[in-house]
Amino acid sequence: MSKQFQIAVFEGDGIGPEITQPCCELMKKACQRISETDPDNSISLAMTSLAAGAKAYQSLGEALPKDSVEQARAADAILLSAMGDPEIRYPDGTELTPQIDLRFELSLYAGIRPIRSIPGVPGPLSDERSKHIDFVLVRESIEGLFAPQAPSKMIGDEQAEETLVITRAVSEKLFDATFALAKQRNAKRITCIDKANVFPAFAFFRKMFYEAATRHTNSQGSSAQPVVDHAYVDIMSLNLLTRPWDYDVMVTENMFGDILSDLAAGLIGGMGYAPSADIGDSNAVFQPCHGSAPDIAGKGLANPTAMFLSGAMLLEWLAETQQCEAAARAGKLIVDAVDAAFATGELKTVELGGQSGLNDVYKAVDEALDNINLI
Ligand code: ATP
Repeated sequence: MSKQFQIAVFEGDGIGPEITQPCCELMKKACQRISETDPDNSISLAMTSLAAGAKAYQSLGEALPKDSVEQARAADAILLSAMGDPEIRYPDGTELTPQIDLRFELSLYAGIRPIRSIPGVPGPLSDERSKHIDFVLVRESIEGLFAPQAPSKMIGDEQAEETLVITRAVSEKLFDATFALAKQRNAKRITCIDKANVFPAFAFFRKMFYEAATRHTNSQGSSAQPVVDHAYVDIMSLNLLTRPWDYDVMVTENMFGDILSDLAAGLIGGMGYAPSADIGDSNAVFQPCHGSAPDIAGKGLANPTAMFLSGAMLLEWLAETQQCEAAARAGKLIVDAVDAAFATGELKTVELGGQSGLNDVYKAVDEALDNINLI
């Protein structure tokens, strides 16, 4: 049976539009190539561009227009590049963060951040094992230190207060998603990252992690069980630098996840290589881990790889949630094309000190996608 998926697209600000356009082209082409091999089960993507971000704020007066949210909610999946511009702010001086507001609007509690070394892309570690880094960081994405129900408080010019919120309702869903992902990956280790020795909120977080472990490992029967453990965020920052290959699936609070995911992206070449998904019960947003990088916008220097891999994750998620084998194959085709493009080591992106700009990467991935033999 042929399927068409409705994809809401936020091309955003800064480097957003430059990396979104080639990503959409690749996603459509991947679907087309897969469909040609099995026309009875063809898939296509109907993409609708929606307004949000700093540019939208300037022209419409709203960083995340209600209409855009509702159209995104109704779509099968949402592709988002990056939003915000430090030069365009609310009257009180704070930066626009519509991409974070969208997570709250759609209740996207599970931030999935896969970190995988792409063969041919050099990372900063000299150990041979760093060529095979492959783990996923799950970042809780709607509460923790970012919780909107506990806004920042200023007491005159003397004191500032932030509140960290951990709820059972969200944590249980987060841990269920984490253990489901671990099962899917056949993970050998699932690690909770916290600061339970100092903050009761993190002790609570860890307690619920182990409750989920009991639920999930019991339901997995007596076959080989993964290691389930925990670590403090400070030592994890060290371990991720010294032995990232020892980890498989990790789960943590929003702020810790925000920081650790940048560190983790550094292990595989930089922000331009790290895709992500923010998943809720009914919606999911796919976007690169990086921001709108206004410093390099419009110069053709951005690395679009993280965006391409986010597009691949979107297709894989559609495959899983809508039982569509063709979408899984299209997602894998993009990942294979990215790997093939970088495999020789000739493609060296600007963020790694090379000369390969946005178009060079796009062309190489596009060519690889054309040339991969599909059976
Ligand atoms: P945000 O807070 O919105 O996540 P940020 O402050 O972390 O944003 P980014 O926009 O992610 O900042 O950029 C951080 C640095 O990384 C910038 O110097 C930028 O040039 C670089 N960078 C980010 N994304 C890419 C990319 N895709 N390709 C090349 N360089 C990038």
